[in-house]
Amino acid sequence: MKILVLGCGPAGVVTALGLRALGYDVSVIGEVRPYPVTEGISARVYKALADSKLIHALGQVSEPVSRYALWNGESRSANTEYLIDRPAFDRALLADLEEHGVQLINGRVQGRPQRDEHWQVDVEHGERRSLLEADFIVEARGRAASLPRQGRMRGPETVSVGVNWRTVEKQAFSAVACVEDGWLWLARRPDGNLFTQFTTRSGRPGLSPKRKIVPLVDELLAGLHIADTDFSRREPVGEPFARSSTAILPQASTDNGVLRVGDAAMAVDPLSGNGIFQSLSSALAAPAVINTVIQRPEDAEMALSFYGDRIRHLFFRFARIGRDFYAQEGRWEDHVFWRERRQWPDKVPAHSDTDRVEEAVRPVINHGFIEQKTVIVSADQPLGLARVAGTGEGD
Ligand SMILES: Cc1cc2nc3c(=O)[nH]c(=O)nc-3n(C[C@H](O)[C@H](O)[C@H](O)COP(=O)(O)OP(=O)(O)OC[C@H]3O[C@@H](n4cnc5c(N)ncnc54)[C@H](O)[C@@H]3O)c2cc1C
Repeated sequence: MKILVLGCGPAGVVTALGLRALGYDVSVIGEVRPYPVTEGISARVYKALADSKLIHALGQVSEPVSRYALWNGESRSANTEYLIDRPAFDRALLADLEEHGVQLINGRVQGRPQRDEHWQVDVEHGERRSLLEADFIVEARGRAASLPRQGRMRGPETVSVGVNWRTVEKQAFSAVACVEDGWLWLARRPDGNLFTQFTTRSGRPGLSPKRKIVPLVDELLAGLHIADTDFSRREPVGEPFARSSTAILPQASTDNGVLRVGDAAMAVDPLSGNGIFQSLSSALAAPAVINTVIQRPEDAEMALSFYGDRIRHLFFRFARIGRDFYAQEGRWEDHVFWRERRQWPDKVPAHSDTDRVEEAVRPVINHGFIEQKTVIVSADQPLGLARVAGTGEGD
């Protein structure tokens, strides 16, 4: 049984390692993208990386740095987070793949996999092209994954522009700060590189041509004062760039039998700071789902609907938490950027007031399979908690 994972970001790598641990012959096809971005991860993600034995990737995670939030005119110091230089982190993920004996096929997947008797994937390796065969395909190309237009859900159209700076001061920190038509994220890594990201609505004037980005971000930074940090003496480094950051939920987490993981299954607003967490969450569940589909076809439908429900639930949970966070910024209520985001995705409360809990039978991950078990459900956890304080059935 040959499985091909398309894409080598955190979701593709963690899925491949999980499948390898279940005894599958799995290869990953991908190439590291060149974006020079810094991202932030929480202690929870750090632990998930450690639990997945991603030793090389963990070696690229900084010590925890102070985190600041400037929101609705108030400034506060909001605990800590870990910073990662994404290209270095992504390269380290490949070293982890190798360490665990998973083959990496260096190349760029063209279009969508085609199904005949087996799956066929068209891959470009520089000047050369090859057609690779597999019995099962995992789509992990992140936001670059091809996506049927029909039925997908998109949040307000959003773009993030990034600029790296060399600063005289070196103290590491991260900060999020609102501006009139968007928000800024700043992250100075312990090596002194300051990464700044301005997230705003797509089509905002002043973002193109590209040469306008550095002066625009420089002006926004000049208006920011963050306690205990200094980034006033700064020089831009390298080229600025733009990434689409619209929240996207495909209609289904499978596409004609191909299972989507990570951002390919749901891409969240970067304000949540939880993209990698969500990617790992689907990637940690996917191997048991695939194992069930292959080994116990009679349970395939249950396993796939467990997976799809979980993704949808997490997507809406983070979208509603994000909506409420946007709504806390009251200075530019009428500005289209804030108005759209304080209303999306709906009016359903992010958390329920009801604290009634009850037992129910729901699918859970159990020793590499998806199985029906008794769980605890509540309004906040409708899919159920299989284990509470170490007790219960399921992993
Ligand atoms: C502006 C912005 C800021 C963000 N900041 C944060 C943050 O601070 N913290 C956080 O946790 N998350 C953040 N995220 C989200 C985070 O980047 C993603 O959720 C996470 O990287 C998704 O992992 P993935 O493996 O699903 O996809 P990706 O990390 O996108 O990996 C996809 C992989 O597939 C490869 N690939 C793509 N197309 C092809 C192809 N055709 N052939 C072969 N390979 C291909 C890519 O090169 C890449 O290696 C941010 C996202 C955005 C847009």
